[in-house]
Amino acid sequence: MLGVMQDRTAIITGAGAGIGRGLARIFARAGANVAVVDRNEAAAIATVELIEAAGGRGLAVAADVTARAEMERMAQATLDQFGRIDVLCANAGIFPQAALDTLTEADWDRVQAVNVKGAFFAVQACLPQMRRQRYGRIVLTSSITGPITGFPGWSHYGASKAALLGFMRTAAIEVARDGITVNAVLPGNIRTEGLADTGADYIRRMEQSIPMGELGTPEDIAYAALFLASEQARYITGQTLVIDGGQVLPESILALES
Ligand code: NAP
Repeated sequence: MLGVMQDRTAIITGAGAGIGRGLARIFARAGANVAVVDRNEAAAIATVELIEAAGGRGLAVAADVTARAEMERMAQATLDQFGRIDVLCANAGIFPQAALDTLTEADWDRVQAVNVKGAFFAVQACLPQMRRQRYGRIVLTSSITGPITGFPGWSHYGASKAALLGFMRTAAIEVARDGITVNAVLPGNIRTEGLADTGADYIRRMEQSIPMGELGTPEDIAYAALFLASEQARYITGQTLVIDGGQVLPESILALES
């Protein structure tokens, strides 16, 4: 898949760490110019340095996905630097845990604002240029949590990731005649800075629940997204791709023990 992004420009939100950084590095390695977008400017610059050290081209954009004006600035800065927007990976997301009994309105709103509204603003900001080009690939980072599974403490998060798929399906229809596709990757448990906050015990026990016996890597998600973002995936839209080492497969714990 190296070279599939030659002469393409990709915007990746939440690219200062974790899955987003993995997306940025793999897309750059595949030939793309990459706008590395993160609310943490130092982290965005660090990702660009990694891309450039590997011979790629990157642009750090400090922006918060929850602010429409900042998403418009992101799109403009990318156009000014690279002249096109071929791919948007709307990946920025947060996953704070809070049980239903203690979940506050502010917790709920914050998670929906970053995970759902942030993706909407990023997509809306990139659409005019993609429509002008009559070409675009949008890949949303959803999750298995919400669309397929549940986990105590993540009701607000699960709701946000399921909402993204509802958004995707209608958006995909609205832009289908413009050469633009909208798809989603659904990661399982992926080794990232964000997941590290859940602690070693969570990670060890999670590994035991995955048929492949290990957590995924940001690169595992990036290669799946790279396919959906390629020219070759032109006839795929409104679809989901689960990347989880088989985590959603076991019918019960017995399936893993036998
Ligand atoms: P991560 O390691 O925490 O990295 C996310 C990056 O996005 C961070 O640099 C973060 O900055 C940035 N960010 C957060 N809010 C932002 C905002 N409002 N505007 C711009 N940037 C923002 O997370 P991750 O594990 O890579 O997760 C990335 C995506 O994958 C999320 O959508 C997540 O829900 C999804 N996902 C992850 C997993 C997993 O196992 N890791 C599984 C399923 C789905 P700060 O450091 O300042 O917060």
